[in-house]
Amino acid sequence: MTGSIPTLPSSPALGERDDVDGLETWEDPIPRRSQFTVQDLCDAFVAASKAQFSRRPKQPSREERAKRIEERQRNILLTALKKYAKQNNIQPSELEFMEVKEMSLVVECPREYVHYNFLVKRGFSDGEPTMFFAEVKPNCKGEGDVYHCTPLEKTDSGHCFACNHGAKDLMHPNAGGYLGGHKEKGSFHMELVLDSDDDVCYL
Ligand SMILES: [Zn+2]
Repeated sequence: MTGSIPTLPSSPALGERDDVDGLETWEDPIPRRSQFTVQDLCDAFVAASKAQFSRRPKQPSREERAKRIEERQRNILLTALKKYAKQNNIQPSELEFMEVKEMSLVVECPREYVHYNFLVKRGFSDGEPTMFFAEVKPNCKGEGDVYHCTPLEKTDSGHCFACNHGAKDLMHPNAGGYLGGHKEKGSFHMELVLDSDDDVCYL
C-alpha cells in the first residue's frame, strides 16, 4: 500500500487566502497577508505622533502661568467689587482691589463655590485697607456668577464647614449671605488654581 506523502503548502501570494495570521478589513473579513508589516505601522504611528506633537502650542512657563492666574483672580474680584458697588450705590472707582489673602474651593455636589478674602483700598484715604469676603462661581464670567461680596469687620467669624477643613484663616461675614459651607456633610475644601478663562485645576 502506497501512501501519499503530505507536502507543505507553499506560501500564498499577496491577496490570496492565507490561513496564517493576517489582517482583516471590514469589507473583506478573510485574513490575508498585508502589504504592511507591523514595523511599518509602528514607524507610521511614531512619525504621525511626532508631527502632531510639533504642532502643539508651547506650554507657558511657570512664571507665565502664575501671572495668568493672578490676572484671572484680579478680574474675578474686580467683577465682585463692581457688583458690590452697584448694590450699594458706590462709584466703582472708590474701591481699589489690592491683593488676594485667602482662597478656598467649597464643593457641595453638584454645586461649587470659591470663597475669597481680599484687600481693598476704599475711597481716596491713606488709611488701612479693608478686608472683603466674596463668594463666586469657580469659572466666574460676570456679575451673575458673583453670589456675595461684602466688606468684613475684624470681629467677623461666620462659620463655614468647608473652609474650616483647610482654610481656617479665611474669614466669613457674621451676617451670612453666602451660599456654600453650611452643610456639615458633603462640604469640603480643596486647593484650587485658576489657570485660564475656562479651566479650573484642582490640586
Ligand atoms: Zn468658606
